[in-house]
This record gives sequence, C-alpha cells and structure tokens, in this order.
Amino acid sequence: MLSYASGTSDVPLLGETIGANLERTVAAFGDREALVDVPTGRRWTYAEFDAAVNDVARGLLARDIAKGDRVGIWAPNCAEWVLVQYATAKIGAILVNVNPAYRTHELDYVVRQSGMRLLVSAVGFKTSDYRAMIEEIGFTETVFIGTGDWDALVTAGEGHDLAARAATLAFDDPINIQYTSGTTGFPKGATLSHHNILNNGYFVGELVGYTERDRICIPVPLYHCFGMVMGNLAATSHGAAMVLPAQGFDPAAALRAVTQERCTSLYGVPTMFIAELGLADFPAYDLSSLRTGIMAGSPCPVEVMKRVVAEMNMAEVAIAYGMTETSPVSTMTRADDSLERRTGTVGRVMPHLESKIIDPASGLVVPRGEPGELCTRGSSVMLGYWDQPEATAAAIDTARWMHTGDLATMDPDGYLNIVGRIKDLVIRGGENVYPREVEEFLYTHPDIADVQVIGVPDEKYGEELMAWLVMRPDTEPLTAEAIREFCTGRLAHFKVPRYVHVVEGFPMTVTGKVRKVEMRERAVEILDLHDASRIRNA
Ligand code: AMP
Repeated sequence: MLSYASGTSDVPLLGETIGANLERTVAAFGDREALVDVPTGRRWTYAEFDAAVNDVARGLLARDIAKGDRVGIWAPNCAEWVLVQYATAKIGAILVNVNPAYRTHELDYVVRQSGMRLLVSAVGFKTSDYRAMIEEIGFTETVFIGTGDWDALVTAGEGHDLAARAATLAFDDPINIQYTSGTTGFPKGATLSHHNILNNGYFVGELVGYTERDRICIPVPLYHCFGMVMGNLAATSHGAAMVLPAQGFDPAAALRAVTQERCTSLYGVPTMFIAELGLADFPAYDLSSLRTGIMAGSPCPVEVMKRVVAEMNMAEVAIAYGMTETSPVSTMTRADDSLERRTGTVGRVMPHLESKIIDPASGLVVPRGEPGELCTRGSSVMLGYWDQPEATAAAIDTARWMHTGDLATMDPDGYLNIVGRIKDLVIRGGENVYPREVEEFLYTHPDIADVQVIGVPDEKYGEELMAWLVMRPDTEPLTAEAIREFCTGRLAHFKVPRYVHVVEGFPMTVTGKVRKVEMRERAVEILDLHDASRIRNA
C-alpha cells in the first residue's frame, strides 16, 4: 500500500469570489456579530461589517486602485486589517501581507518585489516606528490607520460603483501575496487566489463544525494564513464571529477575551497554548464556553494537546498542518478521531486535496509508514511565487504537486506524521527563519568573510539562531552583541542570531558543501560546555 490519499467529501468546493461569499453570509446572518476588536472595544454585526468593508473598498476605487494592483497592509492585529482584507478582495486588488516585525531591509524588498501601489499602515507598533521606516525607504503612497488618512479613505469613495467592479472578477484571480522566506535568500511571495484561500478557510471551518453560533478567538497574527484564512475566512464563510484579543500575542489577553466574549474556539501555535496554560492565574479564567480550536504551525507536543483538551475545555480541538504555499492547511484531525490520533498525528488530507509521500531522490511514492517528502495537490496549491517563475517551477511540478520540503509518514488509515524537514528551515517560536536569508544579510558586514547560520535547540523558542563567522584578516572577532547591533532596525528581531561562534572554517563535504548537521552537533557541545549565557553575551 502506497503513501497516497485523496480527501473525499459530500460538501462541494465553493466556486465564488471572497466578496460574493461574504455577501451571502451577510444576507443570511446580517444581525449576528462579525468582528470584535477587543483592545478598542469596537464591534460590528455582519451588516455593519459589510458596510464598513464597502466604504474602504469604494475609497480604494477613489484612489484609482485597479483590479490586480498590489495593496499592502502593515499593521498588528486590528479591525482595520480585516476591513482591508475584505475590501481589497471585493475590488480584486491583491493584498500584500507585510509582517509586523519587518524592518527597513525587508520592507523595502517586499514593496519593490510586489510592485506595491498603496500601503495601508499602522503608525507604529511596539518599538517600531512604521511611518519613519516607510519614509526611510522613500515610499509615499500611504494610508495611516488611526489618522485623518484613514477617515479620508473611508469617505472618499462615495458614488463609486462596487458592483461594476465585482462583475469583472473571477475566483481564480490572484488576491493575496504572502511573503515566506525562501532558500534563495530572500522572501518569496506565495500568490493565492480567492479559490485557494476561501476554500481552505471554508473547509477548516467545516471540519471544526463552525456555524453562526461560533465565536473564534484569534490571537495568531493576521498577516499569516493562520489568522486571515483559518480565522477570518473560516468565520465569514460560516457566519461566525472573529474576536481579536490583542494587537500582538498576549496570553492573558487571549484568555480574558475567551471569558468576556464567550468564545467557542481558540487558536494558537503550540508555544501560545503553553504560555496560556502557564499563566499564574490560569484557573481564574472561565473557559467553559470553549468547545474547539486549532493548534498548528509547528510540531504539536502530545502532552500540550492533552492539557488543552482537559484543562481548557477544548474537547474537540484539532491539529492542522500546512504551509503558506498551500493556503495553508493540507491535513487536519477530525472531531471524531480518537484522542490518540487527535494529539499524536497531524490528521488526514483535507477534503478535495491529495497527499503523497515520495522518495525525494527517485520521486517514487513510498510504502505506508516509510518517511519521505510530503507533497500536496489540489485547490489549495498557490498560483505560484510572485514574479519568480523559476522558484515556482522548483516548488510545484508539472503535475501540480507542491513539494513541501517536509518529511512525513502516512499510516495505513491515512493519518500523517511530520517527522522533520528537508530544507534547513529554523522555526524560532513559531516564526520561520531560513538561514540563507540571515547569512546573506550578515555577508554585508565589512568584517565578515564567511558566515553560516544554523538552528540550535532552545527550551523557550524551540530553536534559536546561531551564526558561525569567519573573520576577515586583521579584524577583531565579532561578539553576539556586535551582531545584534548590526542587525537591529534592519532585520526582524526573530532573525537576529542569539549565539555567535567565530571559527577559521566550516566542516565541509568533499564536494564543498557545508555540513550543517555536523555544525549543529558541534554547536550543542559548545553551548553545553560553556555557560550558554556567557556565549550569548560575549
Ligand atoms: P508557514 O509557511 O509559515 O505556514 O510554515 C510552514 C511550515 O511549518 C511547514 O512546512 C512545516 O515545516 C511547519 N508546520 C506547520 N504546521 C505543522 C504541524 N502541525 N506540525 C509540524 N510542522 C508544522
């Protein structure tokens, strides 16, 4: 029996645009709550939400945004993020999600690579002055949220005809670009259609049984599919409510929102659930309204899943596995799976999708139980990487299989386990870091001759970054502190190496390839031998 499975369902795929789907929900559930922005206390019913979306959409028409134009959104979680998501979809503009942790280096790249026409941005977030950074890269087409800009946008479009624009849109049109760091050293823009993300969100919602009575607490970032697809689109395709507990992740705010808003579903990457369970006042929160939720994004420890079921009242919690390039979810557990399978596997292939596991060398499908590279095919697979045909061809083969780079096994009943990854992606606290991107940035330091970046195990973040440096002649060895200074303001904080190790050269294979596996083994020894905190601050 080979490791191939195809997802069946009596429920057909949706063949409509995101705007059309939202309007059906509004017609059915106009009086029910659509969106709650907890930090500001603002709330919208579906009828009000649609009206607010339409104001933004018409405002974009008044700014001459054409079908296919790229409109960026750079903000932490907030109601405006959601309004812009649906407004761009309604006018066929391509929403470009900009990671709130980006700094000038990455911002400049995505603005240029996407050919951005307009950037809707927060003024700032945490220690980031977004306005100053946008000025620094010389981009001027902006709308700042929370300023007169935003008010002008929502009133500017009076008289513009949304229906005429809607009539020109097709559900296979690109509607969203999400940058995901690539092995080529720079982020690649996974380009997704209405059909890709609407159906992914819809079927995620189907599998956790959403109806208009559900209220979903979304502490995961909206700039990632977990928030905007598995959260927002799953909600709006079922008439459920989107509850945004805070701008950034805050475990207490998430549980407070569940209690106050009587949420039925809670999302998170494993580290978020760990933080919530670890709150000193955890027993004080009333979680009795919860019934389900989703844990995803990185390996979900069985023990954490069990505690979520038992202590957070989330009897029906699901695990999902996927990646940005597949909208994102490819496999998911079902509510009626045994507890063992719901905590110990990433479930089965999603309805209407296909999974197979291949020997990466031969491309042949491996027998059940044997590890190999997981591939996904179907309505979730992205259109391609924005303006990068070669990178697209390397990821999606001619038979339309997306090669995930993840190593997985499939059991006789079709349940999958993720066992590792081929690509040397480092996942630090749920954020993906491709070493190559950090390496290329560090290469720009005048004292660095050569650099390799690896992930080393870390209790708190799962993995931490370590940079091995070869110094140029007649230079002083760089410390972790100096590297941090060099990166700050130009590289997102989660990509800044925590450990620095200066060497004469790297372990290499005979064919001249750096042996990162051996580096990782040596790094663990080094970090164990020395007091880790000393290396960190050296
Ligand atoms: P992203 O594109 O940011 O969504 O990251 C996708 C990657 O996260 C995948 O290729 C996997 O390596 C990892 N991932 C996502 N979900 C899971 C999961 N449930 N278990 C293990 N790894 C996961």
